[in-house]
Amino acid sequence: MQPLIDPFARAISYLRVSVTDRCDFRCTYCMSEHMTFLPKADLLSLEELDRLCSTFVGLGVQKLRITGGEPLVRKGILTFFQAMSRHLQTGALKELTLTTNGSQLAKFAQPLADLGVKRINVSLDTLDPAKFAEITRWGRLPQVLDGIEAAKAAGLRVKINAVALKGFNEDELFSLLDWCAAQGHDLTFIEVMPMGEDMSPLRLDQYWPLKDLRARLAERFTLTDLAERTGGPARYVRVEETGQKVGFITPLTHNFCESCNRVRLTCTGELYMCLGQEDMADLRAPLRASPDDAVLEHAIRAAIARKPKGHDFDYSRQKVAGQITRHMSHTGG
Ligand code: SAM
Repeated sequence: MQPLIDPFARAISYLRVSVTDRCDFRCTYCMSEHMTFLPKADLLSLEELDRLCSTFVGLGVQKLRITGGEPLVRKGILTFFQAMSRHLQTGALKELTLTTNGSQLAKFAQPLADLGVKRINVSLDTLDPAKFAEITRWGRLPQVLDGIEAAKAAGLRVKINAVALKGFNEDELFSLLDWCAAQGHDLTFIEVMPMGEDMSPLRLDQYWPLKDLRARLAERFTLTDLAERTGGPARYVRVEETGQKVGFITPLTHNFCESCNRVRLTCTGELYMCLGQEDMADLRAPLRASPDDAVLEHAIRAAIARKPKGHDFDYSRQKVAGQITRHMSHTGG
């Protein structure tokens, strides 16, 4: 079968899939406290998600990242992981992974490891229980730490993703780094994106550019840029004194489009070909219109043919950024 190649000769090998818009946390930079979630009929069923993802795998997608909302609160989620693990067994899929807030890991880490998941990303912005409760609104730190412990015990490699927030976790830069080193976790910082209009106005005060964070790190450590590229918006350095690898994700920086190998699918079956542009293709209609996978495949190919060369936005374009944040909470950031 012809692999998915976009008009700029980039092979699409990475699909990020949101399996739900629901979450058991209400992180202040991500969701408002009183969210209205999508009606159930709009969501793809687990069977539909299976069919869609399997079609993508058949077209050359080798890495699937499952996200949300919070993916592990989706009812029956293990059935879906089990369905995807058959593609690991055939070798068609090289990696099945997820991004989670960690709250359900105590229960799910071992079954996920048994199904072939090897690495996970856990979002964790602070190691202070009071600050954790404040930023997540509904989350409890010990539950997440227990989950991370369970992941480690199950043999999962953990990468901690921390959103950099000025005046919030600035003072934890080195303690987070030390904790990750002691626990053997990788660490990546995410630059906070301006939020949608329905969220707290405090946000611009909290913007902590990663170049400033990096400069702070460099005051204490020697940082060596690593050539490693994932096709996504992350850049990595090695901390020479500890040997740790630290990542920086600047979601709004126009620095990775040339190598972009990814597309995102929302839990309602919308395919976004680029994080920074609004164009999307509805895959739910062709999925529901016909049991024939050829129809779906045709819709996917038509969407990939529209993948733009790149995006170019900045913080002055609040409207676009707001849309991206809303998009993130539906597609998993
Ligand atoms: N619930 C899962 C989790 O917590 O990882 C997956 C979905 S969550 C939307 C994915 C990632 O997006 C998390 O690391 C979260 O911190 C990040 N995120 C959400 N809103 C953000 C924002 N406004 N700016 C930067 N990162 C954000």
